[in-house]
Amino acid sequence: MSKTDKYSIFGVNLTLVRNKMELKVIKIMTDILDNYPNHDQCPLCIEDAFALSLNRLPAKYAQFGSIVLKTEYPHDDEIYEIVADSIQQVANKPKHNR
Ligand SMILES: [Zn+2]
Repeated sequence: MSKTDKYSIFGVNLTLVRNKMELKVIKIMTDILDNYPNHDQCPLCIEDAFALSLNRLPAKYAQFGSIVLKTEYPHDDEIYEIVADSIQQVANKPKHNR
């Protein structure tokens, strides 16, 4: 069973209903990761900081491309703070040997 088959209800493909926070976190991480030289930017640590950030943020699901009223909470600067803190935390304690 492929991922697309599992993520469907009565044949309706739900893989395009996404947590909008994912794209916000990806954009912020791309913008600021270079500011953390102690984050090694290996795939595991990037995934780890990404997952940690998303676990600390409320999920905001929406159909891909749908027009959604601007969400008031959390503010972009709060998202930024959580992502920055998550990057730092993973950099301080990577889940692998250095
Ligand atoms: Zn790493």
